[in-house]
Amino acid sequence: MKSFKVDKSICVGCGACVQACPYNAIKIEKDGKSFIDQEKCKKCGECKKICPLNAIKELGK
Ligand code: SF4
Ligand code: SF4
Repeated sequence: MKSFKVDKSICVGCGACVQACPYNAIKIEKDGKSFIDQEKCKKCGECKKICPLNAIKELGK
């Protein structure tokens, strides 16, 4: 099953993905990087499309 994950080594915490997620599944954590709640994520791919650094990876296609 596919999933979307943030590569924290790339993410700069800009928040674009947080704004873009229609399901409110992403937040910026205390480390300043974004994190996807896998229980809320509907796998629409909007976050991956919007990230300027391509820090969100689609896994398990
Ligand atoms: S859009 Fe990309 S760089 Fe910005 S917070 Fe989200 S994952 Fe990080
Ligand atoms: S894939 Fe869609 S639902 Fe999941 S975190 Fe990204 S924007 Fe939100």
